[in-house]
Amino acid sequence: MASPMLEYAFFEGRIVPFAEAKISIGTHAVQYGTGAFAGVRGYLDADGETINIFRLPEHCGRLLNSAKLLRAELPFTRESLAETIVSLLKANAPTSDVYIRPFIYKSSIQLTPRLQGLNDELAIYMLTLGDYLDTGGVKAIVSSWIRVPDHAIPSRGKLSGSYINSALAKDEAEEKGADEAILLDQHGHVAEGSACNLFLVRDGTLITAPITGDILEGITRRTVFQFAQDAGIPTVERTIDRSELYIADEAFFCGTGVQIAQIASIDGRPVGDGRPGPVGLQLQQMLFDTVRGRSTTYAHHLTKVRVEKPVGAPAG
Ligand code: PMP
Repeated sequence: MASPMLEYAFFEGRIVPFAEAKISIGTHAVQYGTGAFAGVRGYLDADGETINIFRLPEHCGRLLNSAKLLRAELPFTRESLAETIVSLLKANAPTSDVYIRPFIYKSSIQLTPRLQGLNDELAIYMLTLGDYLDTGGVKAIVSSWIRVPDHAIPSRGKLSGSYINSALAKDEAEEKGADEAILLDQHGHVAEGSACNLFLVRDGTLITAPITGDILEGITRRTVFQFAQDAGIPTVERTIDRSELYIADEAFFCGTGVQIAQIASIDGRPVGDGRPGPVGLQLQQMLFDTVRGRSTTYAHHLTKVRVEKPVGAPAG
């Protein structure tokens, strides 16, 4: 199988071939999970020549907030981080959809799980990526693993070490023949998926867990709210009981990777009639029309990059 990795990465301040972007096994972030990352999608525009990066400034902002949680010190602003990502995208000049993975990490080779007195680095790589989950209807289970509480590991940031929590839940879901896990919080309320936020629809109202409910501050979640408000769909952020999962009319996951993925069943119980519902479908259509450049209503959410293969080696 051809590697989905694109040719160039950003590493230690320069654009280098992906294969040369290597770190030591003793790196603090490798040993202790002291890293923070972003996952950003770039979609090939309907014109076939432009990559539309979805909500790049917001992803850069959240990454810098996650870095703050790790007390990382880096010379990047939201703007310069976004510019670095765009330069790397131009160097790679992809001809299909891409997933962009910027990563801030404690690069020192040092024992002791701590945050200060260590060096920080930024690395970025990119890969081609299609659908992460089937967007038409996935099987979900409620995981026996609870979502890591914010006062154990900050759950609103995208911190590398906390993804052990996601991996345990996803593993359990796959072990049970499902596609994705739903994690409850420490109080037994519904938090989110292993790598996505979760929405329910009950009596025409869109419901999701509050931002203080041990969830990642999802950028697609925010987008779904905006789309829904503009479309006149009532929305509410509130705690969700587990039993509401079983009586909801519709449910869907959302996130950069999963996009908007309808949930067909939860713990073997069909959601609604088991088929995608009208609210989820409408929001999904709005998202896909936006990212492909077919609708210009939300064009301000796109960083449009024209990609042409550069001649010669990329500038550092
Ligand atoms: N929750 C978790 C745990 C995630 O990893 C993700 C993916 N980044 C999300 C929610 C969705 O966030 P976003 O819409 O910003 O991608």
